[in-house]
Amino acid sequence: MKYIFVAGGVMSGVGKGVATASIGRILKSKGFKVTAIKIDPYINVDAGTMNPTEHGEVFVTEDGAECDQDVGNYERFLDENIYTDNYLTTGRVYQTVINRERNLEYNGKCVEVVPDIPNEVIGTIKRAGKKVKADFVLIEIGGTVGEYQNLLFLEAGRMMKILHPKDVFFILVSYLPVPAKIGEMKTKPTQYAVRTLNSAGIQPDMILARSVLPIDEPRKKKIAVNCNVASEDIISAPDVESIYDIPLNFEDENLGNRILKKFGLKSKPSNLLDWEKFVKKTKNVSKIVEIGIVGKYFETGHFTLADSYISVIEAIKHACFANNVKPKISWLSAESYEKDPKILSELKKFDGIIVPGGFGSRGIEGKIKAIEYCRKNKIPFFGLCLGMQLAVIEFARSACGLKDATSAEFKQISENILIDVMPEQKVLLKEKRYGGTMRLGSYNCKLKQGTKSKIAYKSELISERHRHRYELNNNYKEILEKKGMVFAGVNPESDLVEIIELPNHPFFVATQFHPEFKSSPLRPHPLFKAFIKACIK
Ligand code: GLN
Repeated sequence: MKYIFVAGGVMSGVGKGVATASIGRILKSKGFKVTAIKIDPYINVDAGTMNPTEHGEVFVTEDGAECDQDVGNYERFLDENIYTDNYLTTGRVYQTVINRERNLEYNGKCVEVVPDIPNEVIGTIKRAGKKVKADFVLIEIGGTVGEYQNLLFLEAGRMMKILHPKDVFFILVSYLPVPAKIGEMKTKPTQYAVRTLNSAGIQPDMILARSVLPIDEPRKKKIAVNCNVASEDIISAPDVESIYDIPLNFEDENLGNRILKKFGLKSKPSNLLDWEKFVKKTKNVSKIVEIGIVGKYFETGHFTLADSYISVIEAIKHACFANNVKPKISWLSAESYEKDPKILSELKKFDGIIVPGGFGSRGIEGKIKAIEYCRKNKIPFFGLCLGMQLAVIEFARSACGLKDATSAEFKQISENILIDVMPEQKVLLKEKRYGGTMRLGSYNCKLKQGTKSKIAYKSELISERHRHRYELNNNYKEILEKKGMVFAGVNPESDLVEIIELPNHPFFVATQFHPEFKSSPLRPHPLFKAFIKACIK
């Protein structure tokens, strides 16, 4: 097994995750089995307890780990499932070590930060690789070199190199600014970043030069001389129109074979034909579909950040390209509909509306208003998780006359709790055991004949990923059904409702699960495809 560590220099947010995922795609296309690991330096045990506006989307794996959004990038680029062991945080590592110590597993030894914490990291990395019999394990270390927080993870990399000198490789993803007033790409911050990495005992084998522009030869040489890295191993990584261009750009720089060479492996051709075909499509489509996303996790100060909904955005893109259109996505603030319902009429200009997942009561009534507008005005609507729960509440209020219909998440006392806390969740909430305890990961769903969902999936039994505590209260199924709501998908084991639909509408489908987590460029999701098709119509 070969290990490739990816660390960031100069600043955060330069696309380390996508770079890691792209390297993985290239190695996979050369016939290797690849997996990727994300290390977050947070004390949080997983990403499930982090505010999405601050940290971005919480991605959920098949086996129910609540991860950083980069894990979503790995899955989308690699087209491989990523599992719990592939996501590490400082909190999780310490928790494991401490539990072990309490169980006397260190045999009376004094347990220390170094080497016991890095050793735990190394053990997890190896386990994750072994689980899928990987030839290459990519390990992305979150944060930037020089930070206090990720030092122990760099230390794990350094120690691993001593253990397996021929099998460990380090990549630094750096940033080269081109200050507007100077008009020249500057290499000094990268030189400092390499020196900082050196002081942690690590010499990078390769540098990815992120910048607005491609890096030229003189600057490659400058970095080569100052940073002890061969000029050929400084890979140009300019800003791109689409993240899906990146594997192809890296291949133009011969990245894959440079890595193989460093490991003493023979060069191998890459087979990125299907990827190229997809990328070509993204460039050639011109027809636009306008999608509005009614949410609340994108307003931060003066900026709009779409990171909280990244898998939804990518799933829309995949489905659009599969339908030969491209999306124009607009962020619609649920709270603005509460303040001024007149704004709702803006929904008319969209080809389709998505109400994605969310937590807590902020913005809920605005989302319900938007759903009502879509239902009454026959605008294609796709609800995801909370989006399904609110579609049920809206329908109960407007169509079934249950004016006080609500969810136990927003109001504990009401005559009509349409969305109730799942029985096994009750005790967890009472004991305040919030972390990692939702209904998480993959569960089965049986589809009903003749529904839009069944037609889209072309199969009767499907499996999708979940992240929720609340669920449609089955006591209300009859009354909802009587007024025309169709339960298109149900979990065969627990009888929980997984999909609702309204017939006599161009597209009104909502899921309790998160279909967006299973969409990839080469395997666009059937429900997203069906939604986009309805939007085009
Ligand atoms: N807050 C809702 C629940 O916990 C929906 C969760 C979500 O949208 N992911 O059930």
